Amino acid sequence: MHLLIMGLPGAGKGTQAAKIVETYGISHISTGDMFRAAMKNETEMGKLAKSYIDKGELVPDEVTNGIVKERLAEPDIKEKGFLLDGYPRTIDQAYALDQTLSELGLQLDGVINIDVDPESLVERLSGRIIHKETGETFHKVFNPPAGDYNEDDYYQREDDKPETVKRRLDVNISQGQPILEHYRGQDLVTDIEGNQEIDQVFKDVKEAIDRIK
Ligand code: ADP
Ligand code: AMP
Repeated sequence: MHLLIMGLPGAGKGTQAAKIVETYGISHISTGDMFRAAMKNETEMGKLAKSYIDKGELVPDEVTNGIVKERLAEPDIKEKGFLLDGYPRTIDQAYALDQTLSELGLQLDGVINIDVDPESLVERLSGRIIHKETGETFHKVFNPPAGDYNEDDYYQREDDKPETVKRRLDVNISQGQPILEHYRGQDLVTDIEGNQEIDQVFKDVKEAIDRIK
């Protein structure tokens, strides 16, 4: 299966993606995770990405399209399929993805669009915590780790501070609409109500994927 998961920052893409890849055994490709790994390893690409990410801006299309193209050409993709998370984020990335998929002989099966009220996103992002060892995402209030957890085992993303969040939301709102229209034109999009409990969102996501399969 070849899927995209779309939604504004904080909509729950990463949270749902973790459940999707576990349930369906497909490969998770998150451009945000790839950039954060490159930033951690202080590669040239990581340093470049950081200069954009810290300001809440998008990394330039040439760079982002390049890493996705390389990743999609890896052997696990043909074997298992993929779930792309956080890409495409500009209409030009959507066109580049069409081109890459056609070169690789792959076809998109569906787009899961998590629809949320933008008002709720600042609260979601400011409470987001990530487990240092596993990378698993939680929320201090909405989805806390089980039991008595040690706060030192978790970190908050630099770009989740309110000043950066505002810019990220503005950028993603303005760029996202044409991408959805592009895929709606191909009848690929399923809209999911994202302002529900995480498990209920996943129930709806699963129903959508089972219809796509
Ligand atoms: P994205 O990948 O779209 O940026 P995440 O999956 O990281 O979003 O979710 C952002 C934050 O909101 C996290 O702290 C997550 O635990 C929390 N969250 C995710 N889905 C929900 C939901 N349905 N209701 C409340 N909080 C949620
Ligand atoms: P995310 O983890 O998806 O919230 O992404 C974190 C940040 O990485 C974004 O705010 C962008 O700066 C950058 N990024 C992730 N995916 C893309 C993309 N497809 N195009 C451009 N920048 C991206």
